[in-house]
Amino acid sequence: MPQESPVCSGLVERIGSGDAVVTHKTFINGEEKIINKNILAINHEEGLHEVARLLTHKEMGVVQNPDEINVVGHRVVHGGETFKATTIITQEVKDKIEQLFSLAPLHNPANFLGIAVAEKIFTKAKQVAVFDTAFHHSMPEKAFRYAIPENFYTEHRIRAYGFHGTSHKYVSEQAAHYLGNKKAKIITIHLGNGCSITAVNAGKAVDTSMGFGPLSGLVMGSRSGDIDASVIFYLIEQLKYTPAEVSELLNKKSGMLGLTGMNDMRDIKKAITEGDKHAALATELYAYRIKKYIGAYVAVLNGVDALVFTAGIGENSSDIRYRVCADMECFGINIDSKKNENCLGVTSEINTVGSLVKIMVIATNEEVEIAKQCFDLLSTGINIVP
Ligand code: ADP
Repeated sequence: MPQESPVCSGLVERIGSGDAVVTHKTFINGEEKIINKNILAINHEEGLHEVARLLTHKEMGVVQNPDEINVVGHRVVHGGETFKATTIITQEVKDKIEQLFSLAPLHNPANFLGIAVAEKIFTKAKQVAVFDTAFHHSMPEKAFRYAIPENFYTEHRIRAYGFHGTSHKYVSEQAAHYLGNKKAKIITIHLGNGCSITAVNAGKAVDTSMGFGPLSGLVMGSRSGDIDASVIFYLIEQLKYTPAEVSELLNKKSGMLGLTGMNDMRDIKKAITEGDKHAALATELYAYRIKKYIGAYVAVLNGVDALVFTAGIGENSSDIRYRVCADMECFGINIDSKKNENCLGVTSEINTVGSLVKIMVIATNEEVEIAKQCFDLLSTGINIVP
């Protein structure tokens, strides 16, 4: 930093399964080298220790000693109402992240563990937390409050928080830079396993589709997205589901998986070509939900300068992008089929020449965004207000 040029990157997968795998790539003097091997990592601590060993590897190391690392940036999913910005981690910050476990029971404990392990390995580094919810703190109260009695908000902090903030922030800034307009009205559409859509006005999030948790909004790989809460009462009262079973159903067994039995868009697309009606309907439903949110956010923003598609599906599925953007001429949204098909997933424009709204595909890069925020925080000493 600040050149934003990676010297290495890596991934530890299947931790705890007995056949964990580490992939480690280095990019030094324009040369890419890769290590891919099975490791014994029964927990995250061992996984991260392996990362530290690779960082200091005899031939492929990028540092000689873990103490050379100045900053470790942690993605922390839920910052609640406490953390509105990227924050240097102190004991007090850790205590607060721990207090937020109940709001993100699947994610915050793992993030917390990552911090604890990194503190042990990178003893000289500053640990910094970058919150997935932070970018959405600029939403006005009318957007983040639910229409339930006020005490549920004031006493229990039940409100919409929004997620994928680091990605929405990164791609909206890239788009504003591309447009040469810091005040641009942008709708960012993050379509990965989890999916969310955000309305951004002049660099600030004004509304987003995920809410108190990551379940609301768009149809996702295995989450239902928006669903009438009455369905939940019916499942519990009439079908005798337990709350845990309802949660499992809506988070893990619904969305594209629930509708088709598959949750990878590539398999679903193939199934459509083979005449699978469930796959065809699920894909229509998926695109239709995104369309509805675009319409809503054009109204919220009173216009839109650019739509931005990002993440695994947004960057790679020309089919989904086409289905979303077709028949939206009333908003000045005109997709160019050829540009859409030929787009390579790097920053590209896929609208027709006459389209009033730019349609863009921008590869998200949460790691670079985290590194940028850490760098800015430590060089200015001021917490970044999203
Ligand atoms: P995560 O939310 O886990 O970070 P990603 O952003 O990596 O997810 O997106 C993963 C999803 O991207 C996969 O489930 C798959 O549906 C989709 N995907 C990846 N490549 C393609 C492709 N070439 N065409 C369509 N979908 C793709």
